Amino acid sequence: MQILEASDGVGGRVRTDRVEGFLLDRGFQVYLSAYPEAGKLLDLEALQLQVFEPGALVYDGRKRHRVMDIFRRPSQLIESAFSPVGSLVDKLRVALLRFRSLGSSTEEIANRPDRKTETFLKQFGFSDKMVNGFFRAFYGGIFLERELRTSSRMFEFTFKMFSQGSATLPARGMGEIPLQLARHLPPETIRINSAVAAVTKTSALLPGGEEIHGKLVVVATQAAQTSFLVPDFKAQAPSWRSVTNVYFSAEQSPLNEAIIALNNSENGLVNNVCVPSDVAPSYAPPGRSLISASVLGLHKDDTLPALIKEELTTWFGDQVEDWNHLRTDLIKHGLPEQAPDSSVSKPPGYLKMNDIWICGDHTTSASIEGAIISGTQTAIAIQKSLN
Ligand SMILES: Cc1cc2nc3c(=O)[nH]c(=O)nc-3n(C[C@H](O)[C@H](O)[C@H](O)COP(=O)(O)OP(=O)(O)OC[C@H]3O[C@@H](n4cnc5c(N)ncnc54)[C@H](O)[C@@H]3O)c2cc1C
Repeated sequence: MQILEASDGVGGRVRTDRVEGFLLDRGFQVYLSAYPEAGKLLDLEALQLQVFEPGALVYDGRKRHRVMDIFRRPSQLIESAFSPVGSLVDKLRVALLRFRSLGSSTEEIANRPDRKTETFLKQFGFSDKMVNGFFRAFYGGIFLERELRTSSRMFEFTFKMFSQGSATLPARGMGEIPLQLARHLPPETIRINSAVAAVTKTSALLPGGEEIHGKLVVVATQAAQTSFLVPDFKAQAPSWRSVTNVYFSAEQSPLNEAIIALNNSENGLVNNVCVPSDVAPSYAPPGRSLISASVLGLHKDDTLPALIKEELTTWFGDQVEDWNHLRTDLIKHGLPEQAPDSSVSKPPGYLKMNDIWICGDHTTSASIEGAIISGTQTAIAIQKSLN
């Protein structure tokens, strides 16, 4: 087997760089400890998963409110239940949704009627206040869109994962997840800096003219590249959601707890903020904090870090003035669009076109779990076809 990787390392969208002693993931992302298939393949203990608090801090431009999973943080029942983020009935509906998702298998969720997440939440009885004041910002950060137009199956699946486990960061960064998988392979299997220019059902062509032959070819690129390598795929290629992630370093953490902070106002650029070094101290050198701010969409303006600092001063006060900008990641191909009734969580988890195998998160669900399911299902199908 030969794996040809275009970039200078393995991991694709899940990579971590060490910069000035900080661990910078390429975009803010988390590993959900309850992912069932990923959990079978990965050595989770070796990843030393560091856990986020189950909940969020919500900033409305003037005040901060706490919304916690009261089943795991019962001591915060009163504060969460009476926070003005949604009504008491909304909080009870969250509990109902939690019971429903914990009582449903992932297969049941994948077979439920699919609609936009926003429609699902409203039909479930959540008030506009709760949808606008919590779900839009929390799931906006996960889906990379605040309209909540993403498939409700994807919503229900991630809600189940959050109820069943925790959002985590591996101690050595998110990039450690694919690195761990790659270590199972003999080193010569993976050739980096090898962008494939064209494929047939049994060969891959590299730009220098080198041709690599095999029994079969699997295209496991992100969907935008798949259209280029397998032109017939273009008709069903999804559009993309983008995100801009900005990192700052500071002497002190503005949060001092392992929690995600959300912008639930209709104004402002920032969708969510977290301090990865509050979750996993290894993300920053001793005595420093790493702050991550996510802005949905692509923002190429050089003034973005200054605009974010100005905005976050209303959240955290004057300490923001001393933050140093570390890096901005512009992620054009963040997540494939996952409209209701798309391939989300539906078998088989791969495609075959012109006898070329195609896999990746766009064939299952846009997540680490989805990418792993797709890879596994493709491998099983290939094994069957070879036998
Ligand atoms: C900012 C951000 C936040 C996210 N947050 C989360 C999260 O919190 N939790 C979660 O579970 N998931 C999250 N995801 C989604 C998750 O990262 C992806 O769903 C998953 O990594 C997709 O894996 P993949 O293997 O399908 O594709 P990719 O990771 O995109 O891998 C495709 C690979 O193909 C290579 N390639 C492309 N073209 C060629 C070519 N011509 N020749 C050779 N190689 C090529 C690329 O370099 C890349 O390595 C997030 C993604 C982003 C970007």
